[in-house]
Amino acid sequence: MLEATVANHPTLSDTTSLVHNDDTNLLDLLLNRLVLENIVAYLPVSSLLNLASVNREYRSLVYESPGIFRYLDISKLRTLQFDAAKIDCGSQVWRNVQLDENLTEDDFYSGPLRGVFSCLLRKNILQDVQTLVLDGLSVTAELCNDIIQDACYSVQILSVREVKSLNHGKLRQTLQFACRPSRPEGTPRLKALYVFGSKDMAKPSVDAPERRNISSEWNHKSQRALTSSLANEGDAWWHQKGAMLSPKRDMDGWAACLLACQGIIAFDAILCEGPRHYNSPAFGQMPAQGSGEPEIAIFALYACEGCGKSPEGMIEARGAQHRLPLLSPPPILSSSLRAATTPMQPAQSFAARCKQCLHGRFCMGCNKWWCESCYTPPSHSVNQTETVVALDDDGVMTVSEYSGSGVSIVKPKAMVTKSCWECGQNCESCIDHTQRMCRCCGGGYCITHNEGCTLSHCDWCTSRGRGLGRL
Ligand SMILES: [Zn+2]
Ligand SMILES: [Zn+2]
Ligand SMILES: [Zn+2]
Ligand SMILES: [Zn+2]
Ligand SMILES: [Zn+2]
Repeated sequence: MLEATVANHPTLSDTTSLVHNDDTNLLDLLLNRLVLENIVAYLPVSSLLNLASVNREYRSLVYESPGIFRYLDISKLRTLQFDAAKIDCGSQVWRNVQLDENLTEDDFYSGPLRGVFSCLLRKNILQDVQTLVLDGLSVTAELCNDIIQDACYSVQILSVREVKSLNHGKLRQTLQFACRPSRPEGTPRLKALYVFGSKDMAKPSVDAPERRNISSEWNHKSQRALTSSLANEGDAWWHQKGAMLSPKRDMDGWAACLLACQGIIAFDAILCEGPRHYNSPAFGQMPAQGSGEPEIAIFALYACEGCGKSPEGMIEARGAQHRLPLLSPPPILSSSLRAATTPMQPAQSFAARCKQCLHGRFCMGCNKWWCESCYTPPSHSVNQTETVVALDDDGVMTVSEYSGSGVSIVKPKAMVTKSCWECGQNCESCIDHTQRMCRCCGGGYCITHNEGCTLSHCDWCTSRGRGLGRL
């Protein structure tokens, strides 16, 4: 019989050999709550069901220990992958195949997933799921609505990143309805929604229980965790700076939804709190342009290069919960909002801004920026048609058309300028670093983007030189 010890599990061939080995007494080990929680969180539901089928003790361990099915990631379930691929060309199938007349669009696109859910419901598993990961699958807004509203679900953290067939407008309606001021107490159960980011890196299939046993699954996952922790660059927003989200279609309308859900449901995006938005703590405290409508923050920033802070206040790890973005991947060992928003390593505070709030005040090369208190870009100089928001002596906000007549505006020196189309707006030191004048033709070039150039000669002169050399 194979030796089964905690330290030497790689050689185990199947679940049965693991659980029948008297020396190991796996059952005793798993009865330790801490051990159990740390193991089951990394096992697919199919392995847990296999474990439960071994004998009565294991069955009661799996079905009667609270929280065994708390975390459920079925994004790689093989049957759903297959159906998702079929659904990709669904419109064609929709037209050509004689389908049941009563089949709704939602039935069609969320059918496979609903089938899995009804199976999990029959096995009394679905009710316990608090973190549900459906990334990349075919997930309709109606299904999300059921997960959020239906009493048979207890989902607190839901991940629907890069899902197919999702109507974002309908999902926003569901969320705004769930967070309406007149909502019943204790609702919604959902506390966190991952919808903006990219799904986590491809994982090995967690389906096919007949070909994968608990021990090999465990090995695979710990290896993956180790690899990712070794390659870990730190958490988005906290340890990485620059653009955190790529603006996608369907982004319109999400900012108002985030504001309506603020403090109730957290997202893997946050609102920009630049002074020009009415949701900003700094709104009205300084002249600002724009309509004041909320917008989603795209960029994570260090403090302002000029004053070392930001007008709206930097976002702190221990600060107001509603300002914190959900961090990827969704936490495995806990379904709490705190776990989903706490960076893994100690992190400095950051500022989060939308594109408009950084216009003309942000270097795309080194992510430095200058806040509204420290700097007004020349392009922002007030003219006759601009709206100015300011507080009067009584602290009352006034919005007025600013008349520039009689006001002499000294054009400030620009902190960022565009020397290279690809580099975009850059600060002086980045420009010094990347832009050169060719010693041969005197033309300007960028050492990052003019492929084939040298530190002294532009790409054109360099290639011409080579050509001449070969003659
Ligand atoms: Zn500043
Ligand atoms: Zn903004
Ligand atoms: Zn720079
Ligand atoms: Zn460049
Ligand atoms: Zn040249």
